[in-house]
Amino acid sequence: AKSEGRNTIRYFEPEMRMRAEARRVLEKELGHALEQGEFQLYYQPVLDLGSDHVTTLEALVRWEHPRLGMVSPDNFIPLAEETGQIIELGTWVLEQACRDASKLGKAYRVAVNVSPIQLRSRSFVSTVCRVLEETSLSADRLELEITETALIEDGQLAFTILRQLRDNGVRIALDDFGTGYSSINYLRQFPFDKIKIDRSLVTGAHLNSESAAFVRMIAALGNALDVSTTAEGVETIRELDLVRQAGCSHVQGYFLSRPVPLANLTPALNL
Ligand code: C2E
Ligand code: CA
Ligand code: CA
Ligand code: CA
Repeated sequence: AKSEGRNTIRYFEPEMRMRAEARRVLEKELGHALEQGEFQLYYQPVLDLGSDHVTTLEALVRWEHPRLGMVSPDNFIPLAEETGQIIELGTWVLEQACRDASKLGKAYRVAVNVSPIQLRSRSFVSTVCRVLEETSLSADRLELEITETALIEDGQLAFTILRQLRDNGVRIALDDFGTGYSSINYLRQFPFDKIKIDRSLVTGAHLNSESAAFVRMIAALGNALDVSTTAEGVETIRELDLVRQAGCSHVQGYFLSRPVPLANLTPALNL
């Protein structure tokens, strides 16, 4: 076991050094990127299985780096959270998404991911209200996606902020449910509008009876609590059939569409 451990370390060392270097470069450039307008929003449609209509578009940020090309948010969001730049970036995402949504038909709402750090920042609620007002977007057409990490530490503060947002008419979704510190208790503490079942449980669920059981359980819980459930990561018709039978109310995933620029969705959705 010891030699195995050593091999593992030797194997990963060069890769880690490279990642550390890439990290330093990105960290320095992240600040300029906002000013240079290098960020853009892609959108992934969410299908309502009841009506068979797309009801929501999830905004997913992209960094089009002049040299590195398209950088995935998994690479720069954690960095932006460490440096605090997530506040500025998150506000830009919110503004852009609400601007886009206000141009869409009333049948569509937009979902925006909110970092735990952003949620807890002093001015978050007033920022959301200001952006809704400036874009003339009705609050119920904005859905904020919160992960459980935002609720672990000082959950009281987080729930207070969420309650203020919800009192203003904004919808709140619990993202990545079924992973990490997943706790059913959060669902008792706050009236979420939506549960998003993490793709690690959904993708391949037709080949894994345990995953399938979890998906069915979460969908049943959602139905019992009158909370809608979106199955993320539906890549094949097999998974679509499974989550439909499980009782999920919505689906999202490559089977329907990858995240794309809004203009690419316009013809398909009749926007
Ligand atoms: P997320 O919120 O869970 O978003 C879903 C991710 O799964 C997206 O990755 C999406 O492209 C990917 N995905 C969707 N359907 C499928 C599928 O069928 N198969 C597979 N393999 N993947 C699928 P993306 O766009 O790379 O974003 C990664 C994460 O970065 C997001 O996970 C979210 O946590 C974070 N993120 C993205 N945009 C923002 C943002 O504006 N603000 C914040 N705070 N975080 C963001
Ligand atoms: Ca999300
Ligand atoms: Ca998710
Ligand atoms: Ca995720």
